[in-house]
Amino acid sequence: MFGPLTVKPKNSKGDKTGSWRTLVRPNYLHQNCIACRMCVMICPEGCVSGKEKNAFSVDYTFCKGCGLCAEICPKKDIAMVSEDSKDQKQA
Ligand code: SF4
Ligand code: SF4
Repeated sequence: MFGPLTVKPKNSKGDKTGSWRTLVRPNYLHQNCIACRMCVMICPEGCVSGKEKNAFSVDYTFCKGCGLCAEICPKKDIAMVSEDSKDQKQA
């Protein structure tokens, strides 16, 4: 079994997104999630968490909007949306 790319996320202020992110961010749809944890493992910022189906979430303080989580999700349950979109399930 593979582990997350980032072993110790959120352990320094330098990891925070701060004033920049790409113009999109991930929106977890919470409809078809099978709790495979691929999004957790691939996130380079270690900012995806969750254990149960349809209950994964992103800490936007650290998310850079790279889109890897949405790309790898086998159920297409993560949509990249524009920063101004109201399609956001968690703050
Ligand atoms: S967009 Fe990138 S940084 Fe943000 S949660 Fe997904 S994989 Fe992590
Ligand atoms: S990659 Fe998709 S299906 Fe797998 S845990 Fe994340 S949101 Fe759920």
